[in-house]
Amino acid sequence: MMAVNIFQKIIDREIKADIVHEDSECLAFRDVNPQAPVHILIIPRRVIRTHADIGPADRELLGHMHLVAADMARKLGLVEGYRLVINCGHAAGQTVPHLHMHLLGGRDLSWPPG
Ligand code: 5GP
Repeated sequence: MMAVNIFQKIIDREIKADIVHEDSECLAFRDVNPQAPVHILIIPRRVIRTHADIGPADRELLGHMHLVAADMARKLGLVEGYRLVINCGHAAGQTVPHLHMHLLGGRDLSWPPG
């Protein structure tokens, strides 16, 4: 049996998180190790392991996650700008096998990323 990933435990309320948004499709909560003054993770309820695993059936869900990200950015006052990041696979630094979008803001962000 596949091990339950940490984000599934947050969805199931087995471990605590600072949840800032929740609906029937996705959850948004503060990253436990923030890399910027605002660092939110937006995750689907349904497990999709990586961005490379998405398919046409996920079209609505992915669009919805973007709308949630824009809404969160507005609500959290990121008027100067923000960055959305999806790490896909170990070479990109993905550590949790459950698709997640990072919403980062509240400071100037350098480019290119590491
Ligand atoms: P990745 O490196 O996979 O793109 O991002 C995983 C993110 O999840 C990291 O930024 C890490 O700090 C965050 N994270 C890992 N475990 C937990 C947890 O239990 N709670 C919260 N809120 N964030 C977590």
